Amino acid sequence: RYEGRYVGRFAPSPTGPLHAGSLVAALASWLDARAHNGRWLVRIEDVDQPRCVPGADAFILQQLAACGLHPDAQPQWQSARSGLYQHALDQLMAQGDAYPCACSRKDIEDAHAAQGHARERHAALPYPGTCRQGLQGRTGRSWRFNVTDFKPKQPSAPVNHALNATYSVADGVLHWRDRRLGHQQQQVATAVGDFVLRRADGLWAYQLAVVVDDADQGITDVVRGEDLADNTPRQILLQQALGLPMPRYLHTPLVCGDNGEKLSKQNGAQPLDLRDPLQALSQAALALGLPAVAHLHHICIADALAQWVAAWRRNYNGPP
Ligand code: GLU
Repeated sequence: RYEGRYVGRFAPSPTGPLHAGSLVAALASWLDARAHNGRWLVRIEDVDQPRCVPGADAFILQQLAACGLHPDAQPQWQSARSGLYQHALDQLMAQGDAYPCACSRKDIEDAHAAQGHARERHAALPYPGTCRQGLQGRTGRSWRFNVTDFKPKQPSAPVNHALNATYSVADGVLHWRDRRLGHQQQQVATAVGDFVLRRADGLWAYQLAVVVDDADQGITDVVRGEDLADNTPRQILLQQALGLPMPRYLHTPLVCGDNGEKLSKQNGAQPLDLRDPLQALSQAALALGLPAVAHLHHICIADALAQWVAAWRRNYNGPP
């Protein structure tokens, strides 16, 4: 049904090379695109410049190529797309959905302490809304999205008819469906509060950039790691505010290291071993619940990928 119209993407942040965990998201997004006879794009998410490692973008593209995962168009770099993000922020400001905020992290912590909230170490604090009614003479540092006053449309039918993508809001809780995780929900106002669109250091926030780019690139299906699932409600709210179509979502299983923690660059995940890409791909396929390929050492990458595309079609039923 969706032949030729499916567009998927892999959107790595160039903070280091791909590792066994990030290859799972890359492979899953590629397989899903191929299983739908769709297109697969790569977007380098380098908005958070201080965290980017010079050369990591080129290295990631090499790693993907070594694994036989070739994008269907030239990769895009978010750092070249600031104009689009500014345009979206201007629209949100004009609609009254975004406001300037003067609070530092310390101000937010103090506001929580004053309200008597116990602070869990490392837990992200929802924004207490201090600047929602105005800056009171302070100087704006960042821009936030007003989730509290925002009234999303209440879709009784799919927002994106072609895709059957839908969400609903009941009693301030946003409900949506993930293709693997099934029903999901989040009360955005209490879980995160009014979230940042443009940071105090002038950098664009991931939430705004990803929503603008997914729409601009015509992405129909977002396939990414499960650690990002709880960003989805914020992204749906932004899509609604900006009048953009909602894609479908599929969040892939996370790979854990020997210590049981999610593999990440921060906890020392090793870069993929490019001397044996088929071995790395097999491990990623296993993490996705795909069957092992027989005679792994006697077949080429393209043949192994073709077998996994067929298996993916069976697991995820091809075009829904
Ligand atoms: N750039 C994000 C990351 O590497 C992924 C964003 C996304 O797929 O939406 O974690």
